[in-house]
Amino acid sequence: MFFYDTNKRYNRFSDHLRNLYGVKVYKVTLDAGFTCPNRDGTISYEGCIFCDNGGSFSQLYPNNISVKEQLDLGISLCIDKYKAKKFLAYFQAYSNTYKPVEELKRIYDQALSHDDVIGMSIGTRPDCVDSEKLDLIQNYAENYYVWLEYGLQSIHEKSLKFINRGHSFETFCHALKETQKRNINVCAHVILGLPNETREDMLETARALGDLGVNGVKIHLLCVLNNTRLTKLYFQGKIPMMEEDEYVETVCDFLELLPPEMTIHRLAGNGLKPNMLAPAWLSKKFVVLNKIDKLLEERNSFQGVKFQKVTKGNHL
Ligand code: SF4
Repeated sequence: MFFYDTNKRYNRFSDHLRNLYGVKVYKVTLDAGFTCPNRDGTISYEGCIFCDNGGSFSQLYPNNISVKEQLDLGISLCIDKYKAKKFLAYFQAYSNTYKPVEELKRIYDQALSHDDVIGMSIGTRPDCVDSEKLDLIQNYAENYYVWLEYGLQSIHEKSLKFINRGHSFETFCHALKETQKRNINVCAHVILGLPNETREDMLETARALGDLGVNGVKIHLLCVLNNTRLTKLYFQGKIPMMEEDEYVETVCDFLELLPPEMTIHRLAGNGLKPNMLAPAWLSKKFVVLNKIDKLLEERNSFQGVKFQKVTKGNHL
């Protein structure tokens, strides 16, 4: 089963958006001046082991300008480069619900007041939402296309501890349940290739996401960015990096276990290239994506072929 009118064997988010809106829709990444409890000392000062000073922000233009100016600039770049027609405001840097609710409203209103913005995607931690904030976001979701992107990374506590996430899988499940009650789309971020995780561990994360009814997933490979706590461990030889073919196989296995309706927001994230130390092969992301397409074709396989809904709700 190919998805939409593409030759893709997985439910790519960009195709899903084009199918919904009939035009190319692009996410414009924003830094609205948030911070993160895992950086400001509330949980820790160190942050996640892989996080650089930008809080996982990957935009190329300066972030010391207003949300409106970032949107104007980002939208004009996306029109020139990608011929996009509509836009999602993507609050990406740090934890974008980590302010009082009145301030969140002011920031989100600013983004949604732009004529070509059809909605927003809010990246945050599952321990940075509460019922008041979710109620606010639910109000937006009634008139706009809205996603909450929760950093999960893995369902395994040993991994969450190793990467210093500062929250548990249970916290994610609780946030997910509260978000689903309000009919807000949820995308979970996961990392493959974490030290001490077997392939079966990674696939357990895939099964859990399908089981929990998550709407979308963003799959990253563990990569080493400069100026992170991972850098030192990497140079000490303590972080084995996944090889390209191993990653491609794992991603294909992962996709097969997800429900077909789950949207795939990314299959191989990377940092800005000058900031990335390893693995070198990830800098040719298009090669990795082509290999994933090719392997799915060789297997005559698709996203969802091995999906089985078993225990929906048991994690909650
Ligand atoms: S939660 Fe996000 S911003 Fe905070 S330390 Fe982890 S990766 Fe960085």
